[in-house]
Amino acid sequence: MKLLIVVPCYNEEEVLADTHRQLSGVLSELRDEGLADEGGLLYVDDGSRDGTWALIKGFAVADSRVGGLKLAHNVGHQQALWAGMEWASLHADAAVSIDADLQDDIRSIRDMVKAYRSGADIVYGVRRERSSDTFFKKNTAQGFYRLMNALGGDVVYNHADFRLMSRRALQALMACPERNLFLRGMVAALGFPSAKVYYDRKERMAGESKYPLSKMISFALDGITSFSVRPLRYIAILGLLFILISVAVIVYAIVRYAAGETIQGWTSLLVSVWFIGGSILTALGIIGEYVGKIYKEVKRRPRYFIEEAAGMSVAQD
Ligand code: UDP
Ligand code: MG
Repeated sequence: MKLLIVVPCYNEEEVLADTHRQLSGVLSELRDEGLADEGGLLYVDDGSRDGTWALIKGFAVADSRVGGLKLAHNVGHQQALWAGMEWASLHADAAVSIDADLQDDIRSIRDMVKAYRSGADIVYGVRRERSSDTFFKKNTAQGFYRLMNALGGDVVYNHADFRLMSRRALQALMACPERNLFLRGMVAALGFPSAKVYYDRKERMAGESKYPLSKMISFALDGITSFSVRPLRYIAILGLLFILISVAVIVYAIVRYAAGETIQGWTSLLVSVWFIGGSILTALGIIGEYVGKIYKEVKRRPRYFIEEAAGMSVAQD
C-alpha cells in the first residue's frame, strides 16, 4: 500500500527540519513493519515568506520519498491541505494529514494505518485531553464544538485535521465543489466506514501558532455558516418573538390611552429603539455572511495555484 503524509506548511522553517526527521522515521518504521510498503511525504508550502520552500526542496533532493508543492499564494490551512489531498487522491492509496508543528502524535499514524487495513476509510485523530492548551484556547475550542453540534454541524468532538483518508474517501471529498472549506465537517459528512484513534496533543515545538484569536474566531464562524443554516432560522424565531412582545405592548398602550393616562415613555421608547435596531443589524450581518458565502461560491475561482513542484517522483504511480 502507498501511504502519503500530507503536511501543510506556512512559515515553518523553525520546525520543519525536525518534523522531516521524525516523519521520515515514521515512514521507515511503517515500511519495516510491513504496514505500508511504499510511503511518501508531501509538503505543501502555503505561500511562506521564510525559508520553508528552500528546506522542502532540500528534503526532496536528498530523499526520493519526498515531494513538495509550492502554492503561489497563502490560501490558508484548509485550502493548502486540499491541494495536498487532491494530489494524494490521484497518487496514493491513503493519505494522512498532519500539521507541520507535529503537535499531533506521530505514533498515532501507525494506529491509523492499522485501522485502515482493517477496513476504515476515514480514521479520525481525536485528542484525549487538552492539557497542553492554554485555559483560554481549551474553553473557546470546547465552546466551539458545542455550538457547532447544537447548530447541526456534524463534527467529531476534539478532532481537528489529523486524519487518515483512503483513496475512495479522498476522491469523494474531491467531488465536493464548494470553495468554503471546513474539512472536518465535510469529511464527517462523507459517511464512509470510520474509526477513531486517541492521542495526547503536545505543544508546538517551535515557532508560533499561525492561528491567532482573530483567525480562530473567523474560522469558527466560517465553519458554522458553511455547515448550518440554522442561524437564519433563529433570526426568524427572534423576529416572531419581537412581534409577540409588540402585541403585548400595543395592547398596553391602547388601554393606557383609553384610560386617558398620558405615558411618559421616553426611556422605554429609547431602549426599545436601540434594542430593535441592534437586533436588525445583527440579523442583517448574519444574512450577509451567507450572501458573502454564496458570492464566493458562484465565482468558482480556482482554490490555489501551484507555482513550483519538487521531487514528485514519490507521488507518481
Ligand atoms: N498553515 C497553513 N496556512 C496558513 C496557516 C497555517 O498551511 O495560512 C499550517 C501551519 O503551517 C501548520 C498548520 O497549518 O502546519 C496549523 O497551524 P498552527 O499550528 O499554527 O495552528 P494551531 O495548531 O495553533 O491551531
Ligand atoms: Mg499547531
